[in-house]
Formats: sequence, C-alpha cells, structure tokens
Amino acid sequence: MDSRKVGILGGGQLGRMMVEAAHRLNIHTVVLDGEGAPAKQINALSDHVNGSFNDPEAIAELSNKVDVLTIEIEHVNADILEDLEKSSSTKVEIHPSPQTIKIIKDKYLQKKHLISHGIATADAESVESTPESLEAVGKKFGYPYMLKSRTDAYDGRGNFVVDDESKIKEALEFLHSRPLYAEKWAKFTKELAVMVVRSTDGTVHSYPTVETVQKNNICHLVYAPARVPDTIQLKAKLEAENAVKTFTGAGIFGVEMFLLEDGEIIVNEIAPRPHNSGHYTQDACVTSQFEAHLRSILGLPLPKGFSNLSTPSTNSIMLNILGGDEPNSELEICKRALETAGANVHLYGKSTRPGRKMGHVNIVAGSMAEAEARLERIMHGTPIESF
Ligand code: ATP
Ligand code: MG
Ligand code: MG
Repeated sequence: MDSRKVGILGGGQLGRMMVEAAHRLNIHTVVLDGEGAPAKQINALSDHVNGSFNDPEAIAELSNKVDVLTIEIEHVNADILEDLEKSSSTKVEIHPSPQTIKIIKDKYLQKKHLISHGIATADAESVESTPESLEAVGKKFGYPYMLKSRTDAYDGRGNFVVDDESKIKEALEFLHSRPLYAEKWAKFTKELAVMVVRSTDGTVHSYPTVETVQKNNICHLVYAPARVPDTIQLKAKLEAENAVKTFTGAGIFGVEMFLLEDGEIIVNEIAPRPHNSGHYTQDACVTSQFEAHLRSILGLPLPKGFSNLSTPSTNSIMLNILGGDEPNSELEICKRALETAGANVHLYGKSTRPGRKMGHVNIVAGSMAEAEARLERIMHGTPIESF
C-alpha cells in the first residue's frame, strides 16, 4: 500500500498488533526493542534493531532504516527524536511529534498542558519529596489525594493513595527517588475512554466512548459502547477530541477520563499511541485502532465512518488476560473463549508471569446482555443457553 518503511520504537504487544495490521497492507515495519520482543516474533521481513528505545545510538540506527518513525510507548527518548526531527541530514518523519511525546511522557507537564488549553482535569501540583511538601498539598487538596510519579508510570505502579497525613512517610518510601506530583482525588462513578485519531492535517476523529474497569490499577474489562446515556457518551467524545486537538503530529491517542458524580467529565491522562482501551476495535469496529494509526501516520485514506462500531447493534467487551498464579493457567480462560461464538483471542507471545498482560479476548455480540453472558461463561465457565 505504501513503499515507505515504518520504524516502531518498542516491540511489546502494541507494536506487535501494529505489525499485524501493517502486514495486511503490505507495509514494511522495523522494530526497535530487545531481541525476541513480541513485535519481532511475527515479523521476519526486516533486520530489526536490538536495544533500548531510550538509547540514542539504537534510535539513530532505526531511523537510518526507515522513512517514518512511530512509537508504541511514550517512555522513549524524546530529546533524541527532537534532535532527529531538526537534523538536516535525516529526512525521517516522526509521528506523533517529539514535542507531543515530550509533554505526555511527563504526566505533570501533560496536566499543565491540558489545563492551559482549558481541558477539564483533576487539579495537580508539583511537589518535593519531603513530608512538609506532601503535608502542604494535603492541606490544599484534602485527603485522600493521589501522589504520582511524573515519569515511567504504567499500570498504576507510579501511584500512591495518600489517605491521610499518617501515610506520607510510606508514600515517600514507595515512590522513593522518582519525580513526583500530586493530584486532587477524583470522585468518579465510572472510568471512560475514547480513542482519537489525528490526521497529518490536524483533523480528529473519535471512536465510541467506552467504559473501562480497572482491577489493582490494571485495565480488566472494557465495555464498548460505555453503559452510560448517549448524552454522556457524546460529551466524552467531544472532550477527548478537544484534548487531542491540543497536540501536534499524527496518529492515534487514547484518552482516559473520569465520569464524576455530578455528570462532569474530566480527563485523567492521554496516551499518544494505541491503547488497551482500544483493543475492542480490532473485532468490533470498521477499522482497528492499529490500522487507523498506520493509515493516519502515512497519510493513507480512511473512509467516513471508519471509527464506528461495525453495525448499529454491535456491542463488545474486552477482557484482559493476565498471567495466572500457576504458569499458563490463564490459558484456561482462552480455551473457553475459543469455545465461545463471537469471542476472539489475541495472545502476545510473552512468557507467563503472574499479573503480566499476556493477551486479551474481544467478545462481540448483538446486545450488551448477550456480550455479558458470553463474558460470564468465558471467565467462570458458566453454561449459557443462548447459543
Ligand atoms: P496506565 O497503565 O493507564 O498508564 P498509570 O500508571 O499511568 O496507568 P493512572 O491512569 O494515572 O496510572 O492511574 C491509574 C488508576 O488510578 C486510574 O485508572 C484510576 O482508577 C486511579 N486514579 C488515577 N488518578 C486518580 C485521581 N486523581 N483520583 C482518583 N483515582 C485516580
Ligand atoms: Mg499512564
Ligand atoms: Mg491510566
């Protein structure tokens, strides 16, 4: 479909699913990550680069092999990408823009950026790693509040809930030596998310509003569409689009949001790449998030309605498959999914470890009740009559 080669910084499951989508369009991809990374396992077309997506030399090596660079993770060396973009000797295009990655990868800079563009979000305050600083924030925000690492955060591993003043010492020990900021507690009734595609000309298109359920801070289930009134769905889509419009560069963005008790919707955080809450698009939408990402960074066409659910009655639930306590015990769930109509198993080629994201199952049905019944069977083996 396009003779330009795409280099991907990061070769985990998101990179792997990007490669999968690229293959169908005959788009050549080259991956930078450790040897045998999930994305490399399914791509024997290229001489991939072994190394870290933070290493300037490895990034330079990748950039010499490709025409367009993109990311599957924001924790990359954005300064090097910025240098590459400015350099007159390289002609590689980078999406999303290095400036976007730089802002988003530091969650406090991201918050300040959103606030300065009028996007509703929880109040945030930069803090020092001292009891005095955390006490001062407690006085300002009240308790509980959320203490977060500004960088390298994922699956809630950079977060600590400060319930009251007595927890401050533990919070500082837990997030020891990481750059911190504090967030006011968001009393949400549901967590929502919207995938938004930004084209090279800056126009944005959003996928449906979904509802995400986290367990131990890790995404557990995604309901598409979200089980909220249409007005709330529409409000979330508009807010997500407005948030993504404030960034530069093309590609897909995942916007995580909180639905508050009073119906207000605020942005939690944004990912400048495909996102776990968008995996359902692979089986439930006209175009998957991975293909939409590739098409948008390459400036390939996307038809009107590409981000819609496949049919007006399509309902979908995504279930994340985490490594079980016994090695490979999670495959029991996958086996039941294989026995279930309308369920698609996606595995990532990772070695099993308790709590590790190993894969996901996308359930697609004609109603949410039917999707929920299938989910119940897949998770617990409960027999159901309906098919
Ligand atoms: P991800 O894997 O999504 O990148 P992360 O490590 O960046 O996760 P966050 O998304 O900031 O972490 O937070 C993880 C979860 O913690 C959220 O999904 C939400 O359930 C809860 N949370 C985060 N911020 C707040 C807040 N200000 N108030 C209440 N709960 C919060
Ligand atoms: Mg995050
Ligand atoms: Mg998050």
